[in-house]
Order: sequence, then structure tokens, then C-alpha cells
Amino acid sequence: PERLLAADVRKEDAQERAMRPKMLADYHGQRAVTEQMELFIAAAKMRSEALDHVLVFGPPGLGKTTLANIIANELDVRILHTSGPVLERPGDLAAILTNLEANDVLFIDEIHRMSALVEEVLYPAMEDYQIDIMTGEGVSARSFKIDLPPFTLVGATTRAGLLTSPLRDRFGIVQRLEFYEVDDLAGIVARSARLLEVPIDERGCIEIARRARGTPRIANRLLRRVRDFVDIRAEGKINADTADQALNLLNVDTLGLDNMDRRMLNAIIHKFAGGPVGIDNLGAALSEETGTLEEVVEPYLIQQGLLMRTPRGRVVTPHAYKHFGLQIPADGAG
Ligand code: ADP
Repeated sequence: PERLLAADVRKEDAQERAMRPKMLADYHGQRAVTEQMELFIAAAKMRSEALDHVLVFGPPGLGKTTLANIIANELDVRILHTSGPVLERPGDLAAILTNLEANDVLFIDEIHRMSALVEEVLYPAMEDYQIDIMTGEGVSARSFKIDLPPFTLVGATTRAGLLTSPLRDRFGIVQRLEFYEVDDLAGIVARSARLLEVPIDERGCIEIARRARGTPRIANRLLRRVRDFVDIRAEGKINADTADQALNLLNVDTLGLDNMDRRMLNAIIHKFAGGPVGIDNLGAALSEETGTLEEVVEPYLIQQGLLMRTPRGRVVTPHAYKHFGLQIPADGAG
């Protein structure tokens, strides 16, 4: 099933893969997650059993794929990688499952995008390590069971809310990844810089970390763009000053906000007088799915103190007006 495995063309290149940590010790931040996983992995290894199925959810770029790979490395087993959208027919998933060896990790990215028919193959596979195969049609249709070796399913999703409850219930371990603290991101930048052999000081790491939207993938990307800048303009050295110059030149927001963040805040400010506005109205105004706004965009804005969720809807804070250089309305935003 070559087409189905690793068929997901990821938005990353070899350089980014090289920065991906391989073991838990190099996985920065997310301390509650790493502490628990360390324990569960050690217990599974001690008993020579497959680790329980793991569901990892959180916004893009926070380290779901990385964690899946680390789980397999730490367990010292193979990992097969596929994704919800490429599994079109039940047979696609069955072909992968029957290729598993004992205690392997099967990673399904974007697991919420699996079709209902494919999902049904997964239930007995997860629960009893079995699949039901149908052959023939009409009166000659027969079904028989195939036993699978014990394995660990690691499912990743940005949208926990979209998973059906029978699927969610079959995961013994559920981990939610949070946006990273600046200190943790600074550690990630420092490590990546070492791997890329880029000279950077501590305050340079912090400046990049601060503007990375709480997201390791963005932090690594910014590091590479800043490296381009300093290679040409600043003798290759990254410090707080050269990082700031580079990021300003690249129009990277001082709080790390991306386009979607800015569109959402600006819509509330300019179209809805600062709010409160309901998420449905906001989704319509931005032509965006409300689920994406709620689970990918909003959490960071709330964490940064730019947006509040109130019973009557979303409200921007005075801090958001200040960030855009706007006057805070007299009737008091937020
Ligand atoms: P996701 O699957 O959630 O979209 P990835 O696992 O692909 O995110 O992570 C994106 C990049 O960020 C990886 O290539 C890796 O280098 C880096 N990264 C993610 N999480 C961590 C972490 N906890 N520590 C260090 N680097 C990380």
C-alpha cells in the first residue's frame, strides 16, 4: 500500500525534518504530556505489550507528528504513517492494518477526515485487533475475520470536536497539545540553530520565540528566514537586535499574529464595533468555518489577551486596539 503510506505530502522539507526531535528528551515543553507518555511507554515496554491507542490533538505545527514518531522511537518499534483523507476505501485501511507487525505504531494524521466506512474498519481493529473482511456480493457475500497483531494507533487531529464519539472512546490515552511558552520555544530555536550551525545568542532565541505564535513549526521557519537576513546583512550573527530587524523587514507581527489572526481581530473591530459578536456571524463575515476559528485561531488570541469569549459573543480587548495602533473606543471595548 505504497500510495497510502506516507502519501501525505507534508508542508515541510528535508531541513525541517532534520530539526524534528527523535526522543522525548528533546521534545521541549508540553510537560504534562511528556511526563505521562514517558510513564505509559516505560510500562508498555516493561510488559512487552503494545502501548494503548493515543489521540493527540492541537493546532497545526505544535508537534503531533513529532510526538507520534517519538512514541515509536521510544518503544523501539516501526511507525507506519498515513492520513484520514488518503484512506478512501475500507480496503485501503485493511491493507495497511494487515501489514502491521507486533507492537508497531500506526500513525493516522487528520484522523477526523476519515470516511464513516473506513472508520468502521478501525473499531474492531482498535478494540479486538481484528478486522472483518467482506467477499462476494448478494447471496454469495461472506464475511470472515482476520486477526491482527497488537498495535498502537496514534491519531492526530486539529479538531477534537469533529471526532465521532465511538472513535474517541476507543483511545485509552488522550493528549491535548497547548501553545508553547516563550521559554520553551526559545529552547527549540536554540536546538535548531545548533543543528543548522547558526550562531545565535540567548536573547536572539527569545526574540524569535516571542514572534512564533506559540508554534514550533513557525519558530523553526522564522529562524531560517532570520538566518538568511543575517547572512547577508549582519555577518551571520543572530542576537535580539538583528532578529528584530529581520523580523520587522519580513513583516512578522511583534506578537506573532498571522494573517488569519489579524483578519479575525480586524473584522470584530471594524465590522462589529469591537463586539460582542457571535461566532456564526464572525464565520460568515470572514468566510471561514467556525470550527477553525474556535479551535485554531481563537485559542492563541485568547492566550495573548487580545480576545475574550463572553456569553454574548466574542469581544476584542483594549490590548488588541493598542496592538493595531487604534484608539480605544470611548464606550470601552471589552
Ligand atoms: P503537527 O504534526 O502538530 O502539525 P509537527 O510534529 O510536524 O506538528 O511539528 C512541526 C515542527 O516543529 C517539527 O518539524 C519539529 O521540528 C518542531 N517541533 C514540534 N514540537 C516540538 C517540540 N516539542 N520540541 C522541539 N521541536 C518541536
